[in-house]
Amino acid sequence: MGVRAYLDWNATAPLRPQARRAIEAALDLVGNPSSVHADGRAARALVEGAREQVAALVGAQARNVIFTSGGTEANALALTPSLVVGEARGRDRALISAIEHPSVRSGGRFPQQLREDVPVTREGVVDLAWLTERLDVLRRSAPLVSVMLANNETGVIQPVDQVAELTHAAGGLLHIDAVQAAGRIPCDIKSLGADLLTLSAHKLGGPKGVGALILADQDLHIGDPLIRGGGQEGSSRAGTENVSGIAGFGAAAQAVVAGLMDEAADMARARDRLEAGLRAAAPSAVIFGATVPRVPNTTLVAMPGIKAETALIALDLEGVSVSSGSACSSGKVAPSHVLAAMGVAPELALGAVRISLGPTTTGEEIEIFLNAWMKRVMGLSRRGRGLAA
Ligand code: PLP
Repeated sequence: MGVRAYLDWNATAPLRPQARRAIEAALDLVGNPSSVHADGRAARALVEGAREQVAALVGAQARNVIFTSGGTEANALALTPSLVVGEARGRDRALISAIEHPSVRSGGRFPQQLREDVPVTREGVVDLAWLTERLDVLRRSAPLVSVMLANNETGVIQPVDQVAELTHAAGGLLHIDAVQAAGRIPCDIKSLGADLLTLSAHKLGGPKGVGALILADQDLHIGDPLIRGGGQEGSSRAGTENVSGIAGFGAAAQAVVAGLMDEAADMARARDRLEAGLRAAAPSAVIFGATVPRVPNTTLVAMPGIKAETALIALDLEGVSVSSGSACSSGKVAPSHVLAAMGVAPELALGAVRISLGPTTTGEEIEIFLNAWMKRVMGLSRRGRGLAA
């Protein structure tokens, strides 16, 4: 097999060498971080060092970082009516944007009747006018608002600072899922205005199966932890820590802090080359969210008349890994909820192909993709076969 082009970084990013080294070193430690002896203290030191590194990535206090098994668990932990700030009571309602990841869309521990969708515009940006009106009405419910920083399918950056202002003015709390933003744009918890922020290690070059929920304020507490048992993670998340995973997460976070500006510029260059090539090959190609700010690594494109699943298989045969914007459940392919919320027609949405790259993506990979697109996908379009499959 020749060189493959891995362009599915939003699904998962390759492990950074710094993370690999930190994981390997951690695997050699025998201690449990809760043990008081020297072996335990060595493991504890690793976990606490990583906590500092992850906190530094978002400008938070290390003591406000709760390590979890990933972004999904961090989101589930955040979404609870039991959040308390100092003496203030819990949340009566959750306002959840229509384009959130399924782990947020599921609403956590908010029952269905306490959840509301925040609509988005045709470009995939949360509807601030709608939110302003709704929060005015909900002022007395102390709502929890959940809006992601960057969408995993379109890459569209949400105006979370404005969402934070509106939310706080209504006495609410803001949860931001920053899983797809970290490592691509700056994510400072204070400037974003987040009260709770979710990260996942494997999207930024750390290992899979580890993430964090980060609180902006020491007075904010998760009233009802998801996992109870020992007192780990400040009693917010019981269970012996995933020491090697956490060490790898810390090392990846540190690498992001050191290189973000250069990496973002490299990604933007590669993404712009890719989009210029796509547009040249097919002027009818639709790039979603192209007129609003996006993270520098994501392109969601659809070609009228071509089904994403068919394009994906054709590209895979040419050595290109990308993903589709649609979801397959019980054998039936449904258009993505993100594109549906943006009002994209189902026929076009079913053709959405997501190309996502990273800081080590090479010019060669972009050329492999463009050649494969020209040869296979444009071929499908000419023969009108895409929709027949
Ligand atoms: N949030 C967003 C926006 C994501 O894209 C993902 C993963 O795709 C998650 C949360 C879930 O993270 P994890 O895979 O660590 O559970």
